[in-house]
Amino acid sequence: MKLYAPKYYKNFKCIADKCTHSCCVGWEIDVDEVSLEKYKQLTCGYGAQILDTVSFDEVPHFKLGTGERCPHLDENGLCKIICNLGEGYLCDICREHPRFYNYTGVCEVGIGASCEEAARVILSSPDYAEIEEIGEVDGIGEVDFNARDERAKIYGVLGDKSLSYHARLEELYRRYEIDMGKNEEWLEKIESLEYLDASDKELFLNYSSACRPNSTDTDEYLERFLAYLIYRHATEAEDGEDLRSRLSFSLFCERLLASLICTKGAKTINEVAALARIISEEIEYSDDNTLSLMY
Ligand code: SF4
Repeated sequence: MKLYAPKYYKNFKCIADKCTHSCCVGWEIDVDEVSLEKYKQLTCGYGAQILDTVSFDEVPHFKLGTGERCPHLDENGLCKIICNLGEGYLCDICREHPRFYNYTGVCEVGIGASCEEAARVILSSPDYAEIEEIGEVDGIGEVDFNARDERAKIYGVLGDKSLSYHARLEELYRRYEIDMGKNEEWLEKIESLEYLDASDKELFLNYSSACRPNSTDTDEYLERFLAYLIYRHATEAEDGEDLRSRLSFSLFCERLLASLICTKGAKTINEVAALARIISEEIEYSDDNTLSLMY
């Protein structure tokens, strides 16, 4: 099966020790069976210590240390497994993060905005509609509903620079018959979500569909964030109705980012990317939250 990615995908590289929200802190990393077998073969040097850091309660995972840090994260923010053994010894989750894969007749890979560097790459890439073949993966390439063709039409509207960003959004709401809904209803949903950080709930409660920043730069960041959400979520739609739900979810997250930009007075790409990262981490990376906002 062919593997595709947005053109900007190749611009992503983990910034490791320069990352201020490292994915190596706060997350329990499950260790896959193949990696576990590799670790069992290591009998000397740093490799011999790895098994001692694995908890075998339920799914094998690395035991978090002080401050919920991965036991292999050194004081300089570097991975000791990479430093001592090379990237080939990373477990699947560490090697793949922040990548995600969608199987839509072909396989498409992307980078998730919960990673601060990925969020910056996404928001700085105007060429989001350019999807290119980057290789092959195993898999069966058949689906009943091809949402990729519909995504190309959506991107056609979203990227139509002859219209203002506001007019392009209006056209998407009109064409796909999406109702923005009442603020009170969305605020109730925001209240009911699960949060990694309670202060993010307070931040999200600033949501209002009337909050729109008044700047061409931030409109471009919003457009690119929306394009990313559509690539990630709408492309796996199973039929036309499902596509509408997923597009509606993507548009809600776009409105939420617009509200947070207004609340925080964010202007620069780093400021906007920081807010996009929070939305991604709290919403996209929780299946329960995503489903509750999508359907
Ligand atoms: S969050 Fe992203 S940039 Fe930061 S350590 Fe993880 S993969 Fe690297």
